[in-house]
Amino acid sequence: MPPIRILPDTVANQIAAGEVVERPASVVKELIENSLDAGARRIEVEFRRGGRSLIRVEDDGAGMSRDDALLCLERHATSKIRRAEDLGRIASFGFRGEALPSIASVSRFTLQTRTAETEHGTEIVVSAGRILEVKDCGMPVGTRVSVAHLFHPVPARRKFLRTDATESAHIIQTVRLHALAAPGVAFSLLGDGRTLFRSGAEATLEDRVRTIFGPTMENGLLPVRAREGDLALTGLVGKPGITRSTRHEIATFVNRRPVDSRTMTYAILESYQTLLPRGRFPVAFLFLELPPALVDVNVHPSKREVRFREEPLVRGFTIRSVLTALGAEMPRPVSAAPPPASAPAASGDRRPAPMPPAPPTPPASQSSAPQQILKQPPATRHRGPLPPPTGAVPSTDRRPPDPAGAGRASTPPEDPLGSGGWTLVGWLDDHLALLSTTGGLIVLDVRAARQRILFERIEAAYLEGGPVSQDLLIPVPLELDPIAAALLVDHLELFARTGFRIEPFGRNFFRIESVPDWLEPGDAADLIRDLVALARAGRLAAGRPGPAAEEIARRAAIRAGREEAPRDAPGLHRLMVALLHCRHPQTSPTGSLVYFQLSRAEIERRLHRGQSRGDKELD
Ligand code: ADP
Ligand code: MG
Repeated sequence: MPPIRILPDTVANQIAAGEVVERPASVVKELIENSLDAGARRIEVEFRRGGRSLIRVEDDGAGMSRDDALLCLERHATSKIRRAEDLGRIASFGFRGEALPSIASVSRFTLQTRTAETEHGTEIVVSAGRILEVKDCGMPVGTRVSVAHLFHPVPARRKFLRTDATESAHIIQTVRLHALAAPGVAFSLLGDGRTLFRSGAEATLEDRVRTIFGPTMENGLLPVRAREGDLALTGLVGKPGITRSTRHEIATFVNRRPVDSRTMTYAILESYQTLLPRGRFPVAFLFLELPPALVDVNVHPSKREVRFREEPLVRGFTIRSVLTALGAEMPRPVSAAPPPASAPAASGDRRPAPMPPAPPTPPASQSSAPQQILKQPPATRHRGPLPPPTGAVPSTDRRPPDPAGAGRASTPPEDPLGSGGWTLVGWLDDHLALLSTTGGLIVLDVRAARQRILFERIEAAYLEGGPVSQDLLIPVPLELDPIAAALLVDHLELFARTGFRIEPFGRNFFRIESVPDWLEPGDAADLIRDLVALARAGRLAAGRPGPAAEEIARRAAIRAGREEAPRDAPGLHRLMVALLHCRHPQTSPTGSLVYFQLSRAEIERRLHRGQSRGDKELD
């Protein structure tokens, strides 16, 4: 074996650069973080050709003396920690003292910096880790770092760079996240000579999001504000109708630092689980604050990964907070009384979400008739106490989807179908209805609609703590295997809270004595078996009744949603009214779309496009 040697600094730095400087965006991240650590109030970032020809970050922070400027290019030179014990309470972004020497070792690097104590600044030029020049320069207080020809000295690294467009996108994302995280700092971003954004004077996070991400999210965001013990979560989440094809607009921050937190990201995705179509992602900008001792940021030198000391705590807290924000936005689902069909337009702010665009189609026209229905005031909610145990005879006919079967009991509400609302054109198959409105065409999945309506009804019953249940005249017997029986006993209280009364009746035998009012008694035994199977799979345990109730509601809704759909116009009308009073009418509890609209504009665009193609072919 050859003798052991200490590597020359330049080589050591280039190796470190492999870790710290993954791509141009990592350089931008390190430089911005240094500027923030230096107390900058203004940071300007410029890049050219995806950062490979130039990255410049300029700040008005404290700057460095000449000695410090020379020192900061040495490996492990940092002003931010002195001792190993300091690692436990790092408040700054940097602390390893690796970034500047690493970057300088793989580029042509120019540092210009000046403190308030001196009249001149210092300029240091470094090429591939070798200092070429140290001189005075005129400049305002602050620091300017220019990185040119990134990775030139290490051609192998250059090969791993993606296209300029991809690298630019990474840089833009990095600057956006930092700009969002530091509201007191004015950021500007220039790419290839164009100003991409300037932020700084915004009063609210929402304004800042709009400045930084563009105005596309107007009116689409809901505030999150929650606190539990040492944890606080604030920020904005997108309404369920606002979806993206990637996770790029899910931004998580921990103690004001942009981070990749799998825990938080998954918690966010889970919160939207039943609200978004498959393959679509929500928009979220969430800031978690917690004591620094509960989070480990030192996982990887360049990645933004963090680990929490108590992952389940953070996960549960995030889910609860996001769900609260989503639930607070729209009115509670209607119950009982049928909504008057032709009431005058009422207060707009109690309306459920407007008819959302399906992901592949442009936004729905403002004048679509379902929105006229939406303007009806939601029916007042009344939910009685548990009925006295009179032993109601289980009804044999199934409940219609409108709450409490009111539409069946009273005369049907005045039908808007003839009044220029929407018209049933026909059925594409036994559960897909085609409706025409003044705004265009709507394809409605009646089965998914029923699932959504039932889901919200069941969920509401649970959340309000008073599930309406019906006592059965003839209790339903249930026999389970020993493990399932034990699990059922463990969950009896949970089931009681969702409207089931189940009495143990000898070994492995039970009697279902009451069931929730939404459930057909004949289905009770099967549903309980399904739920026990879920409990066996560990999905009802966890001591968190919320998700369990949700699971029960989802199962029950899907089960009930398999029934015959109403095929007549009045039945469909009742369904539409109930649907449009749901909090999240656009998606089923399993995440599929309930309906989408093909707007008149879209239809015309397609027709015209077809025509112009045809014209060309004729020419
Ligand atoms: P770290 O940030 O981990 O300390 P760096 O290599 O990024 O390591 O920076 C080394 C040191 O250089 C910092 O600790 C800081 O004292 C100084 N420094 C770097 N950038 C700036 C800046 N923009 N303004 C003032 N000081 C800076
Ligand atoms: Mg640093």
